Amino acid sequence: MAFQCQRDSYMRELVTSVVSCSPAELQREASGKKETVKGFNVKLLDTVLFPEGGGQPDDRGLIGGVPVLRVTRLGPDAVHFVASPVQVGQEVRVEVDWERRFDHMQQHSGQHLITAVAENLFGYRTTSWELGRQRSTIELDAPSVTPAQLRALEDSVNEKIRGHVPVNVQLLSVDDPAVEKVRSRGLPDDHAGPIRIIDIEGVDANMCCGTHVSNLSHLQVIKLLGTEKGKKNKTNLVFLVGNRVLRYAEKSYSTERSLVSLLKTGPDEHVEAVDKLQKSVKLLQKTNLSLLRDVAVLVAQNFKNNPQRGNFFSLHRKEGDNEFMSIIANEINTEETQLFLTVGEEKGPGLFLLAGPSGRVAEMGPRVLEMLQGKGAGKNGRFQGKANSLARRAEVEALLQQQHTAEGDEQVFQAPANAVTAVTVHSCTRGLRSSLTGSEYSRMARKSTTMVRRMRTMKRHLNLFHTMNFMVLHGLVNQKKDVSGRLRGMNS
Ligand SMILES: [Zn+2]
Repeated sequence: MAFQCQRDSYMRELVTSVVSCSPAELQREASGKKETVKGFNVKLLDTVLFPEGGGQPDDRGLIGGVPVLRVTRLGPDAVHFVASPVQVGQEVRVEVDWERRFDHMQQHSGQHLITAVAENLFGYRTTSWELGRQRSTIELDAPSVTPAQLRALEDSVNEKIRGHVPVNVQLLSVDDPAVEKVRSRGLPDDHAGPIRIIDIEGVDANMCCGTHVSNLSHLQVIKLLGTEKGKKNKTNLVFLVGNRVLRYAEKSYSTERSLVSLLKTGPDEHVEAVDKLQKSVKLLQKTNLSLLRDVAVLVAQNFKNNPQRGNFFSLHRKEGDNEFMSIIANEINTEETQLFLTVGEEKGPGLFLLAGPSGRVAEMGPRVLEMLQGKGAGKNGRFQGKANSLARRAEVEALLQQQHTAEGDEQVFQAPANAVTAVTVHSCTRGLRSSLTGSEYSRMARKSTTMVRRMRTMKRHLNLFHTMNFMVLHGLVNQKKDVSGRLRGMNS
């Protein structure tokens, strides 16, 4: 395999002809999502677009003005993926995206140099490397690299760059005895053609298919950013070459300036200033949490101490969390009190907790979830989760309250003396709940509540009537007339 880009890595364009063009699909990742692009695979007589290989990513560019989205190697051929077809036999101009390619050349030749010098100086072999988008890494067969070794390595590679050392490409046949002498990580199974040796004069000879600079001076500079722990007994060396060093310095300086203005201190004090800030934020968060817990306890106590509290409690608070709501729920006896708590933005997202008698909570939980566009679950008289929007909070509250009042009064009427009335009201509200929804139900529930209140008054009068009768029967009062008079007095 020897494409024009390998014979002359500096050639930016080439006029050649189209050998084949067939429909194809490309799987690629765009902003974190996998997608399939329909297009065409194009083979050319020759190309200046490098297909990936030797750790170097593939080129981008144009074929007759059509963007090339991917270049892969298939045996002796480079396959170019393009979105629209090009005519077979036609002469086309192939142009390489030079900025991307030259960056790859700098990183790749830089890797050869670092690898060679690390082996020469310390005997650390390179087991693999990766040309990343931002930074590249070399995996060294060494459990660790000391800061002094790192400095010596950086000094040495930059000295060679200053030494203006030529980099030559030699082509050898597979059976040439010289092939045995060069460093190599092996040839791909489908390798075709002569063997390429990248020779950095007096420094290194290495078998490689990549595109390389012709002189080390074209690397400009190498910066070893540091080391990271690699796989077992390996160390990853992080490095930048050439223009990447310049871009990195530019970005670092811009960050530094932003920090100077934010922290109001010089770069030398930045670490100390951020450390101080973080500690004070942690302390504030701790204080804040503890205050929030105290508020929760006070809210619950306040409710419990209110003689007119009833048995429905609802609360919304912008600041709060699940624990805040749990504390309130733990403090208030939810066997008898129904609780509806929310925290978060009034019309925005938040958290909610519904607590109360388990049957009612299990029944109402999913409805609350639906109205708050939330996600959640519940058991044992609690139902909680996240709400996408608390905009319908007031509606939920009204629904729960009506439901609660209606059910509470049902229980009053379940006393044996009023069995018939209780059954009537009970079946009436049950039926309503299953057949009606929303405002219709709310209206009916309100009517039912009024009815229930009237019946409760009647019940009190009935009890009084029975008591009076009992008293007359047992001679505790003289006449029934007295009793009727008293009853009339009660009603007026
Ligand atoms: Zn290489």
